[in-house]
Parts: sequence; structure tokens; C-alpha cells
Amino acid sequence: MTRAGIGYDLHRLSPDRKLILGGMEIPFDKGPLGHSDGDVLTHAICDALLGAAGLGDIGTHFPDTDPQWKGVSSLVFLREISVRIAARNLTIVHIDAIVVAERPRLGPHFPAMRESLARALSIPPELLNLKAKTHEGTGEIGRGEAIAAHAIATLSDAK
Ligand code: MG
Repeated sequence: MTRAGIGYDLHRLSPDRKLILGGMEIPFDKGPLGHSDGDVLTHAICDALLGAAGLGDIGTHFPDTDPQWKGVSSLVFLREISVRIAARNLTIVHIDAIVVAERPRLGPHFPAMRESLARALSIPPELLNLKAKTHEGTGEIGRGEAIAAHAIATLSDAK
């Protein structure tokens, strides 16, 4: 059996924060506000994986009211989720994700981001596809006030 899960996240951007995406720091003049590192891409992938596994959502597993998650790398969440998925006898077939941001240009950073995310999940980077979109200058994303990501994950029952 194959199961698909969807994930979405959005964070507001602030000048006093680092931009972390896919566990990597991207040079930029703003970064996401958030209890953790505000990594929208990793958060969307976490929720897609949890959804496919029928395990709820990231807020349930790693509540932002819990001080142990303050400022942690979101790759820690991803690694922990991969362990919980494997414990349910499920394997990751594929992940596809879109980062929606007006700036900066993300394409050049995707190869390293894929490596970083795949390492946290203990999967080959080929199973992970990343895409970028602008918001065509409209709304809060288009004005550079926010950054968002969508992800879909496919899992199958381990043989
Ligand atoms: Mg988030």
C-alpha cells in the first residue's frame, strides 16, 4: 500500500533572523520568526511525512510551548520523524516540495539542501525533489514579509 501526505508552512520574515531552509543557512537580509529555526521547507516536509504515516502533525510531536525545542535545528524534527516512520514499518518512496519566496534565488542552493534533508532522513537525495516559486509580487510573500513551503510525501509499507 502507498500513502501520500501533504504539508504546508508559512513564517513571517524579520530582519534580525537568519534564513534557514532545508537545514542550511542561506545568505539573505531577513529570516523567519519562529520558536525553532523557522525552517518552512523542513516543517512542510515534516508535516507531509507525518500525514502520510497517519501520525498527526508537527505541532503535536514538537509543541512550540516546550522549551526543549526553542532554537533547535528543524533537522532534529525530521530525523526524529524518520525514526517514528520506520518504527511503523513504513519507508519513504518520494518527497516533492515547493518553497514560495520572492527572494532570494533558491535554485543554486537546492543541491546542498537536498543533501542536508536526505541525510537527516537517511534516504538517497534522488528521492527528494525541490522547486522554487515567487509569488509574482503579490500579497505578503510577494512583499517579502513571509516565506512559505508546500510538500507532498509518499510512503509505502516496508517489504
Ligand atoms: Mg513552521
